[in-house]
Amino acid sequence: MIIGWSNYFSTVVSSDAYQWLDHWLYLQLKDWATHRHPRKSQRWIANKYWLIDRGEGWTFATVSQDGVQRLAVHNHTVIKRHIKVQSTRSPFDADWLYWSIRMGRHPQVNQRVASLLKRQKGICPLCRLFFKDGDLLEIDHIIPRLKGGKDELNNLQLLHRHCHDVKSVNDGR
Ligand SMILES: [Zn+2]
Repeated sequence: MIIGWSNYFSTVVSSDAYQWLDHWLYLQLKDWATHRHPRKSQRWIANKYWLIDRGEGWTFATVSQDGVQRLAVHNHTVIKRHIKVQSTRSPFDADWLYWSIRMGRHPQVNQRVASLLKRQKGICPLCRLFFKDGDLLEIDHIIPRLKGGKDELNNLQLLHRHCHDVKSVNDGR
């Protein structure tokens, strides 16, 4: 989620914002860890969830036999200032087909993607933001297939890839 979100906003936010988010996330995690272990010292907590003793400072991670899994950091995202967003064009324009061609990952228009784009008026139902040129889009089954959802247009929606990841996690619950 952190990587997807950070990439999504990498053309419009500054590294200051990412730094602030990382600090905010650290405070949240510290609260969480402190509540989880009310009888342990701050030092014990810090070394259990962060890689301080391994020389990596406040890197939140889990250490297991499979190795070290580090939590992604917003501020590692590359800010993309060179990408020009055509702000005057939106999928509301009559030439939504132009958008579907540009945004699709296939050389030809993907008929399902084009239909969904039109039905959704160019908006991702999960985050309610417009799809932008260059976004990675994925088709989602509104009712998951595992729960009997059909592979039909009325059970499909187009989501950002990172929004789709969030929904899939929730679907699994
Ligand atoms: Zn979205």
